[in-house]
Amino acid sequence: MDHLIEGYRIYREKRWPELQALHRRLAERGQSPKTLVIACADSRVDPATIFNAGPGELFVVRNVANLAPPFEQGAGFHGVSAAIEFAVLQLKVETILVLGHAQCGGVAAALEDRPRNPNSFLDAWIGLLDKAKARTAGIESERASALEHESIRVTLENLATFPFIEQAIAERGLSLVGMRYGVADGGLELLDPKTGAFNPVL
Ligand SMILES: [Zn+2]
Repeated sequence: MDHLIEGYRIYREKRWPELQALHRRLAERGQSPKTLVIACADSRVDPATIFNAGPGELFVVRNVANLAPPFEQGAGFHGVSAAIEFAVLQLKVETILVLGHAQCGGVAAALEDRPRNPNSFLDAWIGLLDKAKARTAGIESERASALEHESIRVTLENLATFPFIEQAIAERGLSLVGMRYGVADGGLELLDPKTGAFNPVL
């Protein structure tokens, strides 16, 4: 806790003076970010840092393994889906970016051969990776890397099942984008929707 308070004091002293005017504008006019980022909760993968983005630029949802469920109706606390709905229908973002990463602990957990605990929120959530896991079943070398890539593709497919996303794609050109960040080397890969391959961003 002391570390956080100390960090805040440094922020107020060093960064706030130059951010103050921007924050005042954002407070008066509201936010209008162009991009919704769905990223992993992993502490090493901060979208604002990776994309050199300032306050007001990115609307970010972070969860274990940067997943989005398919469209589901019915009761429940659909936190990720609620944030997606707000970003698409209220903020009218132009792009939804699914940002995966290397060395993802959520992906590694999905690859463990152990029975799932029915009382674990995490085990239930990781079940969203089952489809991607099945598609990478034949891969022996670097399976985790293959699953990290495939899970981004599956999440993009899941997003396309939301009726309001489908509508926004058709009516105003909302785009769905996949990327994977290399924690060790800082490299970024971009999914080519035509070929389905991830290519380095140079
Ligand atoms: Zn992760």
